[in-house]
Amino acid sequence: MSDDHRSPPATSTNGHINVFWDDGMLDHHTGAGVFDSGIDPGFLDVLEKHPENSDRIRNMLSILKRGPISPFISCHSSTPAALSDLLSFHTQEYIDSLVEADKNGGKTICSGTFLNTGSWNAALLAAGTTLSAIKYILDGQGKICYALVRPPGHHAQPTQADGYCFLNNAGLAVQYALHSGCERVAVIDIDVHYGNGTAEGFYHSDKVLTVSLHMNHGSWGPSHPQSGGIHELGEGAGFGYNLNVPLPNGTGDKGYKYAMTEVVAPAVKKFDPDMMVFVIGQDSSAFDPNGRQCLTMEGYRDIGKIIHNLAYDHSKGRILIVQEGGYHITYSAYCLHATLEGVLNLPYPLLSDPIAYYPEDDSFAVKVVESIKNHQTQVVPFLREVKP
Ligand SMILES: [Zn+2]
Repeated sequence: MSDDHRSPPATSTNGHINVFWDDGMLDHHTGAGVFDSGIDPGFLDVLEKHPENSDRIRNMLSILKRGPISPFISCHSSTPAALSDLLSFHTQEYIDSLVEADKNGGKTICSGTFLNTGSWNAALLAAGTTLSAIKYILDGQGKICYALVRPPGHHAQPTQADGYCFLNNAGLAVQYALHSGCERVAVIDIDVHYGNGTAEGFYHSDKVLTVSLHMNHGSWGPSHPQSGGIHELGEGAGFGYNLNVPLPNGTGDKGYKYAMTEVVAPAVKKFDPDMMVFVIGQDSSAFDPNGRQCLTMEGYRDIGKIIHNLAYDHSKGRILIVQEGGYHITYSAYCLHATLEGVLNLPYPLLSDPIAYYPEDDSFAVKVVESIKNHQTQVVPFLREVKP
């Protein structure tokens, strides 16, 4: 920890975050090209790294180890998931296809999503790391665990890789929690993209409330047929337990806080989960190449605090945090730091924002959030019910 930051307050009530990580996840190589295409057009002197590269995660790890939040952090190693662990969320046929692709030296599974040498092992480590983190919580060893993982997972559906994701790390942890006796799990996903894979995996379940706040990007092709719109609410017993909050571009800190306060928190309160899974992506930041939502560190800190309060009220303070996107090499690490400060409910910021300046007008975002809230409270049965 450097000397030029204030020391955090020495209280025991702020908690502690157990970070689960393994260096093997750095060995997933995604190449370079024009953005995430992997293509060299032949007329550019400098090709950029694929956005989902190991540098972003190395900075996230180092800021936790050496940033001002470090006194609140302890790091734990992990083991890869066994193939049998994956079948709680994915089909055997899908897993077999990935194993086969790995044996054959890799393949492009879908747009921007490359399974290269080392990728499959990294994916198994990401899944195993997330499972280690949820087990740690369920064994009573810690209340807040953070699975710092790549490749990410929330676009991976039971039978389909998508958006840089092969295995749904958070989804596997949710299944593990349910099999271990949890009755209701809430998944709050603030990555800038729709957590379509997680939604799909629990689309028919009333035991898992999936809530996704995302840029209103819609479907992006055969690997991502879901729209992320407000009408995708779940089916059968799961109707109403998938709540999408598609937000306009440039929503910003105030708009996100409004959505969290007006839509997410009331739904979580009514659902009353005994486990909280907080799915984070810093690609909703103001400087991300993949997102346009303009969150700053302050916004992430506020969201983290809201999650802290919900967990305090419902899940005995237990929160599994799972890493997804976030592609600005520097700012993603800073935003992660701010998010975790919020989750710890620290009384003041430990790290100041080096670059944010965005002048916000939240009036349009507030209107959109109001309309989403009205729709959900009209059509979702559990949001209408008043508990005695
Ligand atoms: Zn994303």
